[in-house]
Amino acid sequence: MKTVLITGASRGIGAQTARIFAENGYRVIINYNKSKDAAEVLAKELGASIICADVSQKSDVELMFSQIQNEFGGVDILVNNAGIAQAKMFTDITEEEWDDMFSVNVKGIFNCTKAALPYMIHKKSGKIINISSIWGITGASCEVHYSASKAAVIGLTKALAKELGPSGITVNCVAPGVIETDMCASLSQEDISALKDETPLGCIGTPDDIAKTVLFLASGGGDFLTGQVISPNGGMVI
Ligand code: NAP
Repeated sequence: MKTVLITGASRGIGAQTARIFAENGYRVIINYNKSKDAAEVLAKELGASIICADVSQKSDVELMFSQIQNEFGGVDILVNNAGIAQAKMFTDITEEEWDDMFSVNVKGIFNCTKAALPYMIHKKSGKIINISSIWGITGASCEVHYSASKAAVIGLTKALAKELGPSGITVNCVAPGVIETDMCASLSQEDISALKDETPLGCIGTPDDIAKTVLFLASGGGDFLTGQVISPNGGMVI
């Protein structure tokens, strides 16, 4: 049985990804940071393990992986999903907000990937799937720090894929369009309608749309894919 760690799996896209992997016979480890109750309910529902860790903190991540090593040996699949967003004019973004964005969205991936790799390199196999965003491809007004962090995830994915290919490890990126989760809760009905209007498929996405793409990359279908950016976005960005 393959073991998958999904970071930020207490809610939204991560939670649905945990669900779909559990349904497909994987051993699922749910990482969460603040939403303990939601993570516990989900873990119970799926028969999954849960581990609390702030992915931006190296010490938290090291503790999480030593627990994983003791219980399961390591992870075969790492889904770097944990992320934060903020809508703000560039001129109003503080240095602290900029640093927070990069600490979670980029350094979180650095920390988790570093900790996951020794087991994968030893086994000469593994799959790393990073969650970016369409805004990391196109840039979003009033989300410069978010867009920059998600563009960094794409660069990290491509470079790491080249480095880890010879070790039998694939590294890919999923760059979702607008997906109905708490992250988009501040969007008004008008905003949502406007977004639907500029999307060829005429709707915004669901966590399931992203979870299915992640599962595809993790399963046999994704074996010859590495360094790629796959963007489930309803045609909003082509
Ligand atoms: P969400 O509903 O706000 O959920 C975010 C998840 O990340 C939560 O489970 C949260 O855990 C976790 N998280 C945040 N900071 C963390 C930290 N420091 N350490 C560990 N976990 C942390 O967001 P979502 O929409 O599902 O987003 C998931 C990913 O998809 C993110 O990387 C996001 O940037 C990306 N994305 C989302 C959209 C969208 O439209 N929704 C579009 C493109 C890309 P706790 O609640 O336990 O703290």
